[in-house]
Amino acid sequence: MAGPCSAESEEQMLETARHLAQTGIDLFRAGVWKPRTQPNSFEGIGEDALKWLATVKSETGLAVSTEVANASHVELALKYGVDVLWIGARSTVSPFTVQEIADSLAGVDIPVMIKNPINPDVRLWIGAIERIAKANVQKIAAIHRGFSSFGPGHFRNQPRWQIAIELKRLFPDLTLICDSSHISGRRDLLEEVAQKALDLNYDGIMLEVHPNPDQALSDPQQQITPEEFRAIKSRLIFRPADSENPHFKQSLESLRRQMDEIDEEILSLLARRMGLADEIGLCKKENNISILQTRRWSEILERNMEQGLAMGLNPEFITNISKAVHQESINRQHEVMRKPD
Ligand code: PEP
Ligand code: MN
Repeated sequence: MAGPCSAESEEQMLETARHLAQTGIDLFRAGVWKPRTQPNSFEGIGEDALKWLATVKSETGLAVSTEVANASHVELALKYGVDVLWIGARSTVSPFTVQEIADSLAGVDIPVMIKNPINPDVRLWIGAIERIAKANVQKIAAIHRGFSSFGPGHFRNQPRWQIAIELKRLFPDLTLICDSSHISGRRDLLEEVAQKALDLNYDGIMLEVHPNPDQALSDPQQQITPEEFRAIKSRLIFRPADSENPHFKQSLESLRRQMDEIDEEILSLLARRMGLADEIGLCKKENNISILQTRRWSEILERNMEQGLAMGLNPEFITNISKAVHQESINRQHEVMRKPD
């Protein structure tokens, strides 16, 4: 699915849509009401832009979609024949807002796509999906658009893929779309993020497309021209989730068995390590010594890093795993210290 971040003019909408219709997309998107971070930014054209969406639909035959954030948006979108609604990330965080939208959908069966909340809370995302499902909406999709964080980062919104993967684990039949534009925030990351999503078995990709991205009234850095969209789309590789090839199935099965065995070993080693932490806790307690020994922790981290790097592990992974193990050791020692003799 593709289209401009915001509907800006009828010409912009039609030009984009004509190109996209030729490239082949399933859904045209355009924001009509824009949830902008700062006041006095361009906040969308509103109802007039819905007329342009209707023109796009009749001229190109594309199904059209827009963001709704309250009951009156829903009413207007339905009035102008919008085919699919989406709930934005800033709305998903608010149960009141999602409930208002759900209530306004009573008796209407229109597909609804629900973006993840801006904060990394899978239960809030699920809550929003459940509210819409309770309104008897039959076709629901989740859109993964990444999560806010403080300060600049590689991505505009951190993907935190694990959250979307967890959603898919809990709801295996839910359609999952990756909004690569809002995760990336910049053009050079769009393709990589979209390909990663496809490799994780996502069902579709959403990308923001504008005839003149640098002049766009919202999200200029992440929008691409229809030609760039066509090029990215042609390079993306859709790999099936499964294969009937017996040789493939056998190798996968064997690799997975080996992995499961290693996981078991890792867990039993961790349990042994925690047993040692309990003993150290006892030792420290008897000698009245504090738990955290900063120098020892620095040494552990340095040694793990050196050894892990030599084994080809990623430095961030080494740090994360060392921190998690160290934190749990501290928790265990703390428990031992706290217990009365
Ligand atoms: C959008 O899709 O243009 C948008 C505002 O997205 P999000 O809700 O993900 O910020
Ligand atoms: Mn946008």
